Amino acid sequence: MTQTTNSASNDDLFVASGSASVQRCASCHVTIAELDAAPACPTCGGLLEIIHAPPTDAHGQLLRGDLLKSQFATNCCARPLGSPSGVWRFQSLVMPNAGLSIVSHPEGNTPLLTRMAIDKFAGVVGLQIKHEGHNPTGSFKDRGMTAGVTQAVRIGASAVACASTGNTSAALASYAAHAGIPGLVFVPAGQIALGKLAQTLGYGARTLMVRGDFDACLRLVQDASRELGIYLLNSINPWRVEGQKTIVLELLQQMGWDVPDFLVLPAGNLGNTAAFGKALREALALGLIDRAPRLVAVQAAGAAPFAKGFADHFAHRYTVTADTIATAIRIGDPASWDRAVRAIRETNGMVLSCTDDEILDAKIAIDAAGVGCEPASAASVAGVKKLVASGTIQPHHRVVAVLTGHVLKDPGILVDVHQRADFAKANRPIEIDNDVRAVAKILAGAARA
Ligand SMILES: [Zn+2]
Repeated sequence: MTQTTNSASNDDLFVASGSASVQRCASCHVTIAELDAAPACPTCGGLLEIIHAPPTDAHGQLLRGDLLKSQFATNCCARPLGSPSGVWRFQSLVMPNAGLSIVSHPEGNTPLLTRMAIDKFAGVVGLQIKHEGHNPTGSFKDRGMTAGVTQAVRIGASAVACASTGNTSAALASYAAHAGIPGLVFVPAGQIALGKLAQTLGYGARTLMVRGDFDACLRLVQDASRELGIYLLNSINPWRVEGQKTIVLELLQQMGWDVPDFLVLPAGNLGNTAAFGKALREALALGLIDRAPRLVAVQAAGAAPFAKGFADHFAHRYTVTADTIATAIRIGDPASWDRAVRAIRETNGMVLSCTDDEILDAKIAIDAAGVGCEPASAASVAGVKKLVASGTIQPHHRVVAVLTGHVLKDPGILVDVHQRADFAKANRPIEIDNDVRAVAKILAGAARA
């Protein structure tokens, strides 16, 4: 347990107009050049964040409010200047000087869905579901990775690397293949089920099974990045945060910049909570919105150090031994803690936790609505249901819940849950006689249900 520190004030959101972007240490405020490949602050080891110049038009005139919205709208569809990507149409707030280096599938442009069945489950009319599972590799990580791999191209990296077994390594592998740069994924030998890495293997990343534990992997990947010119794309990479900001920018654009009352998201390593906070801070400063939604970060009860911190007004930074079915948020010591604290404070936000049973209930409702998501994603909808029950979310409130990953990210849990004999909501396969009357009988039952 260590004391938390307050982050920088709000008056240094941008560098001078016309300047190149810089990377700035969130702790000691040292700045380094935007093309520096250092994975952390070279002075104090703190986390880096990206600071851009305010957006301008082709003549160098500052763009704010409606003019900036109009630039984003034009970028959306006009050729040859536009971009089919839901990340790069916001380029002036992501990586203004990327030039011709952009590595894009494209990604983003994920839908805002409403489903009556999910409304009924959560107790909200018109609950908007921002489904990031519709990205090319099936998770929101593509938004950060298009920015991260683009940065790798800009700095001439010899390879890109991360230490991850899940959605990050899949996104890294896919974008590295697209860029023609070797992708390396470091995992502890003998501790990882290869099934979790199937997508990564398919996309052609080199999987290095390190003889040692996960901490040893992290150290090795950092040493390799320093000594061999490998660009590190772990969760603390500041350019990934820039890409992830576009989840918020895109959903606000889809809502006509009409700000919802609550924006609810799953929370593990807190990268998204931090990115959402930065996006909202910049959107407010640039006149894109005139108020922020309340951010609600939802953790799994078995991996809820941030919820514990919220309960004591962030007086301490907690770590826990994480245990939950929601593997994508099974994090005991979140990397982006300080940035996420700032995001929650600035938006009058909240942090809560839901049990695995509550998360699974939400997942089953989302899946059965034909939408589907991975278990961690369902934490957001489980959180909405909880806030409706406590009266915090009321019938007139407008709510957006973010789903972070596709239903096929975790097929194992689907097979397990729906074949479980003791589970009332299981949708078990039914063995029948080879006879049309048997089908008719099932159909009659389905019609009554
Ligand atoms: Zn520093």
